[in-house]
Formats: sequence, structure tokens, C-alpha cells
Amino acid sequence: MNVSSTIGVLALQGAFAAHLDLLTSLDVVGRPVRLPSDLEGLDGLILPGGESTTMSNLLRSYDLLGPLSEFISAGHPVFGTCAGMILLSDRILDGRADQIALKSIDIVVRRNGYGRQVDSFETDIDVDGFDSAFHAVFIRAPRIEEVGPDVDVLARHEGVPVLVRQGTVMAASFHPELTNDDRIHRLFADMVRDASSSGVTSRDQVR
Ligand code: GLN
Repeated sequence: MNVSSTIGVLALQGAFAAHLDLLTSLDVVGRPVRLPSDLEGLDGLILPGGESTTMSNLLRSYDLLGPLSEFISAGHPVFGTCAGMILLSDRILDGRADQIALKSIDIVVRRNGYGRQVDSFETDIDVDGFDSAFHAVFIRAPRIEEVGPDVDVLARHEGVPVLVRQGTVMAASFHPELTNDDRIHRLFADMVRDASSSGVTSRDQVR
């Protein structure tokens, strides 16, 4: 029996709609996540771009912080893009003192780290395992300043990591949902399928 995965997209704020559209175009069921109960039965989750300080506030007011941390520590794959990457990081430079770093991936990020004159830019990047370049859109993007020893760097821009993975957690400083190229979402969907087939449950896998 071939059961398709269900991947949630945190839909409190920001660029969640395009992620849901992309998931629908793959063999994946996409579900917007606004309430703790929306996490039930999900195989993976995307934290989209937007505004990381606003998302932090909303995670608290929607009582999602605890359930989200549990979901991630249970070993369910998560993918954070841009503001979502800031949320997943270990430490945030130039952030607001009260904003959330879930410490789910061993990276240090600088909020708006690409500076003012290049607030937003587009560029082609080489991604590990892809046979042609991926067009990456950066919007007031966070810059990865440090990566821990267990983090795999899957792509760089001018030497700086822009797509990274540690176990079941992947993070991108750009917006992969804004082009018609679905290869990064397919990569994540494969991570989700692999985790589901290896039988990840909150009982037997604690990171
Ligand atoms: N600068 C935003 C932040 O700090 C991130 C921008 C984005 O997600 N496109 O949250």
C-alpha cells in the first residue's frame, strides 16, 4: 500500500500559501498549521519565510511552542526557510531579545545579515545532488554565520552556507517556494518519506 505523506506548513503569518501549492503539485498532502491539533498525524512540517519576530509572538499566543518543540524532538522532519530558518536555529545575532530560537539545528544566523543594499536578490546556486543550478530568491535573508560539526552544507552562495541539513532538520536562507522548481521540496518530501518508513514515533525516537 502506498500512503502519501502529509506535510504541514506553519500558517500563522508569512509566505505559507506558495509552499502549500508546491506540496500539492507533488505526491504529498499539504495542511496549514495554526493550532496545536493541526500537528496531529503530520509526517513533516515546513516553517515558511515571513517575519521571525512576529512568528515568535504568534507561536506563543497560539500555544504552539511546546507542541512544535515536541514534534521536532520526536524526529519528524522539519524544513525552515528564511524566517523559518531563524526559528529553527541555535542562536540568533541581531535578533530581538525575546524572539524564539528552537535550537533544532546547530547553526548561528544573523537576521537580515545580507545588509541593506542587497536586501533582496536572486542568484543561481549549486545544490548537492542536483544536476543543474537552482535559482534562489533571497528576501531580507538571514545569513548563516556558523555551522556545527554535524551540519551538512548542501549549498553555498559566495562561500556562505545557504542550504543546510542536520539529521531530520533542513534550513534554507532563501525562498525555494517562489520559483517553479520543486527540487528542494522534493528533497524534503523524500526526507519525510524516509523518516516515516523508518518508523519514527514520538515514543521511540528522541533527539
Ligand atoms: N528578515 C526576516 C526576519 O527577520 C526574514 C525575511 C524572510 O523570511 N523573507 O524574520
